[in-house]
Amino acid sequence: MGIVKRFVAGAVCPRCAQMDTIRVYRNQIREYRECVRCDYRDGQNLDGSPEAVSELQTRVNQPSATNASGAKIAPVTVQPVKFDPNPNSNSNSNSNDEDK
Ligand SMILES: [Zn+2]
Repeated sequence: MGIVKRFVAGAVCPRCAQMDTIRVYRNQIREYRECVRCDYRDGQNLDGSPEAVSELQTRVNQPSATNASGAKIAPVTVQPVKFDPNPNSNSNSNSNDEDK
């Protein structure tokens, strides 16, 4: 089956800011946008599910604490560090006039 690419009238490329250079095409599951002026290309799922396709997979944004289903496993137990340089003062900085 051939993929039909259609220009989007009035669409402005987010990268090169040219109008009428965006064309869209789709396959069974995804719809793509691309610019014929620059190499901008974007895609999204047809069912509207969000997917960061342009985000590169790096070590930084790869959560190691998630399994395949996306559920968090083994959450890090956060121990609140109590650091109170002045134990006599009220720790929450509400401006109540107690110490006047
Ligand atoms: Zn462009």
